[in-house]
Amino acid sequence: MKAVVLNAVNDLQVTEVQRPKVEAGSSLIKVLACGICGTDRHIYKGEYPSSKPVILGHEFGGVIEEVGPGSKFKVGQVVSIDPNIVCGTCPDCVAGRTAFCPGLTALGVNINGGIAEYVLTPDTQIYPVKDGLNPLHLAFIEPLACSIRGMDLAQLKGGESVAVLGGGVIGLLVVQLAKLAGAREIVLVTRQKFRRDVALKIGATRVVDPKSEDVSEVVSGMDVTFECAGAVDTFKQSQVITRRGGSVIVLGLTAADTNLEINPFSVVVNELRIQGSFLNPLTQGRAAELVGSGKLNLDILISKVVDLAGVQAVLDAPPAEGDIKYIVCP
Ligand SMILES: [Zn+2]
Ligand SMILES: [Zn+2]
Repeated sequence: MKAVVLNAVNDLQVTEVQRPKVEAGSSLIKVLACGICGTDRHIYKGEYPSSKPVILGHEFGGVIEEVGPGSKFKVGQVVSIDPNIVCGTCPDCVAGRTAFCPGLTALGVNINGGIAEYVLTPDTQIYPVKDGLNPLHLAFIEPLACSIRGMDLAQLKGGESVAVLGGGVIGLLVVQLAKLAGAREIVLVTRQKFRRDVALKIGATRVVDPKSEDVSEVVSGMDVTFECAGAVDTFKQSQVITRRGGSVIVLGLTAADTNLEINPFSVVVNELRIQGSFLNPLTQGRAAELVGSGKLNLDILISKVVDLAGVQAVLDAPPAEGDIKYIVCP
């Protein structure tokens, strides 16, 4: 089978590899769609740890090609895959904090993932989706599961003011989730006009261009701010625009060695809650159901669909102006 293999930092290859063999407790998935995200870029550039060589791709789904003996799944079923494999028995797993499992291994990071024609997947990671789902929507289920984790941590009850910093896929999914959660005001801050226009179509009540407006002047007193850009500037802004006693939910991923100054006095006197949100602990099933419900506008987020040979070019260049989500269809 063909696959995109990361041999070393900045060294990617479309190559022929052996198709994996199914064993008890696993299934072979024929990949229909796999998203490429910022994490893949970080891995490619060596800014996020991964095994090498490894087949990239952690945002994928497909159709079951082969099942192991005694499997509860059926050949031909269309499924979404939770890429994060955990032990299920350690204290963190038992407490539901599966993202912290010391044994966590991820498809597309530590073991072979979905930017390939086929991928071997443990049955524990498989979530069937609704019949007739647009296969491209499979690529959104994992990022949506991560966004739902952020929403869970934000504890929106309805009626809040919400700021979203960053207009990438996560930011634009959070806008839609905040709308579904009943936020009264949703302000999206992003430099790209195309993304601001998309945000207004899918639930943002206001958009701000940080190039032409001072964010900390025109956005203030937000109940909850979602930092979805993974940048130092937006991380700083998030603490200024959030009301006293409010929450900053940090979903954006910076490079692992990025540091910045923080003002502890301000954190104390403003009772600011700065809450990281990591991975998709126990949210993949909800994300698969929500995508199947058709309540989200996902088509508007798809910028380009490439084949395996097109992956290198996508990872070599920063996302083009106006582009939101790239999807690989092997
Ligand atoms: Zn991702
Ligand atoms: Zn565990």
